[in-house]
Amino acid sequence: MKKTGINASPGIAIAKAFVYVKRELDVTERVIENIADEKNRFEAAVELSRVQLGAIHDKAVAELGEEEAAIFEAHAMFLDDPEFVGTIGNEIDGGINAESATQKTIDTFYAMFDAMDDPYFKGRAADIKDVGTRILHNLLGVAMVDISNLDEDTIILAEDLAPSDTATMDKAHVKGFATDIGSRTSHTAIMARSLEIPAVLGLDDITTSVKDGDTIIVDGSEGVVIVDPTNAEIAEYKAKKEAYEAYRAELAGLKDQPAETIDGHRVEIVGNIGSPADVEGVLDNGGEGVGLYRTEFLYMNSEVMPDEEKQFAAYKTVIESFKDGAVIIRTLDIGGDKKLPYLPLEEELNPFLGLRAVRLCFQKEDLFKTQLRAILRASVFGKARIMFPMVGNVDEVKQAKALVKACMAELDAESKAYDKDIEIGVMIEIPSAAITADIIAEEAAFFSIGTNDLCQYTLAVDRMNQNVSYLYDPLHPAILRLVKNVIDASNAKESCFTGMCGEMAGDPYATLILLGMGMHEFSMSASSIPQIKKIIRSVTFEQAKAIADEALSMTNSTDIRSMITAKMDEMGIKLL
Ligand code: PEP
Ligand code: MG
Repeated sequence: MKKTGINASPGIAIAKAFVYVKRELDVTERVIENIADEKNRFEAAVELSRVQLGAIHDKAVAELGEEEAAIFEAHAMFLDDPEFVGTIGNEIDGGINAESATQKTIDTFYAMFDAMDDPYFKGRAADIKDVGTRILHNLLGVAMVDISNLDEDTIILAEDLAPSDTATMDKAHVKGFATDIGSRTSHTAIMARSLEIPAVLGLDDITTSVKDGDTIIVDGSEGVVIVDPTNAEIAEYKAKKEAYEAYRAELAGLKDQPAETIDGHRVEIVGNIGSPADVEGVLDNGGEGVGLYRTEFLYMNSEVMPDEEKQFAAYKTVIESFKDGAVIIRTLDIGGDKKLPYLPLEEELNPFLGLRAVRLCFQKEDLFKTQLRAILRASVFGKARIMFPMVGNVDEVKQAKALVKACMAELDAESKAYDKDIEIGVMIEIPSAAITADIIAEEAAFFSIGTNDLCQYTLAVDRMNQNVSYLYDPLHPAILRLVKNVIDASNAKESCFTGMCGEMAGDPYATLILLGMGMHEFSMSASSIPQIKKIIRSVTFEQAKAIADEALSMTNSTDIRSMITAKMDEMGIKLL
């Protein structure tokens, strides 16, 4: 049986299936005589949950780092939350058993969070369910199905995987994932990619159509799962797996090679990170520095506004990790789809066109200056650069730079060190900025093109709307022309360069065009680095220039993609 889903993480796995479905728990409502006993039972279950979450947290810190582990601290906080625990207590006071009281409260809180539009709060719904289910297991004395200790190589089949599942699972034996639900940006997809585990998601009924112990094949590159494969299929996919791994190993061999064309034109390949824990992946894949540090995750993973010291520590850790390479720290990009629980903002009709990023920072100057001071103080530990998101005109750049100056003056007065020559750059993600790049170049040491937003604003396509995703196209001639305009504007000025940190920078179909246009820096998720480096090392700069010119002369992205595919074929460039 062959099933097709979303190719969420590349690679091939052939192993026994483990159907990871959590057991139905008996939460039938019963009338309770001794309320005090029932409350003690509940408190014991909460305490046990606290101990378990503490252990999971510590394991996650060791394996994934502080930032990724923060979610379990957040889970543990629900155990101390007077609203959540108090509501269960009140239900028990009403004379019902703790299991039923807990289930009712989970359902209420789940519905409340799930109904929120804001993706951050919506995400808390899954967290409440996760914590609540743990309490229920402990009340019932039922062990949670355990994937932390497996005896043999296994492919995990699940409806979806919770953060606590992926954090605690036995990474040595989990060879693949296949799930009923999920998208390319779901937690499971992101984890699979960062752990380099092949994954196919959104298969609808994989957990009900496969039995424990069945042999299955997961082809995460193509998005295919084969259940009970024939010997011929096993042989075919073993060969495919070997070829994939040999190619990955070949790519891994490029780790310490420069991103340089055959005729010696050198560019930089750097990584996008969301936390200090992501640095390891960038270094392992041969990234020379960081082209985008999305600092908002530091704020989003925190229950309170992170203070200057906390930010300073995170930035310093990242900066110190790179001996020579620069780290571009993007200032807070909140608003749009990202909100902070402790920073109430007015509801907006069009949040992506609203008070987002620097616009918000200008209104909350204290918050902005706290971050700028932290970045400046960390800048003496290596090479840091500051970058402002969502800039629409040159005056905003001047305004933001004036605030950096003010912070420098404060630090001078306090005799605190910072890099006086720190470079300040601008994200180009609004069409007005791309069109006036020559004007903005007067104030910027560098540009980094944020194609994720530049595409949505230029093409009028919401980057998260499934219904119009077919129109979301970085190879649209409009995007290519804007990108070219930005690169030309920076190249016309000796002291300015252009990089790109949107997903387009890691898209193998765009590499030769961007290279040929004269783009200087490519910033992407760590796992894309080897493949893009390989492509750059396979051509001469002259060839890339000719390809860029040809692409710019074409009228639609379908033709451009076909042309690029043909060129890469001719040059013997394989894709993962
Ligand atoms: C972008 O818009 O391309 C970008 C890199 O920023 P983000 O995805 O964080 O909006
Ligand atoms: Mg953006």
